[in-house]
Amino acid sequence: MTVESLPTFTHPARQRWESIPADIRQRLLANVWCGQCRHEVTITNFTGAIKGGDLLLVGKCAECHGDVARVIEGV
Ligand SMILES: [Zn+2]
Repeated sequence: MTVESLPTFTHPARQRWESIPADIRQRLLANVWCGQCRHEVTITNFTGAIKGGDLLLVGKCAECHGDVARVIEGV
C-alpha cells in the first residue's frame, strides 16, 4: 500500500506519515492492537489526523472489521 492510495489524511498528518520510512510504516500498520481479536492485527481503511501533536490513525481491523486506532508519538 502506498501513501498515495491512502484514504483520508489531513495535510499535516500526511506530511508526518510520509516522513516515516516505508518499512517502519508497514510495521506500524501491521501491529495494531485489536481489543476484540485480542491480538495484533493489520489496520485497514484508515484515516490520519494530528491529535495533541501525535499522529493518530483510525481504521478497521482487517480480521473482525471492528474499530481500531494507533497513535504514533512524536515522529
Ligand atoms: Zn479485530
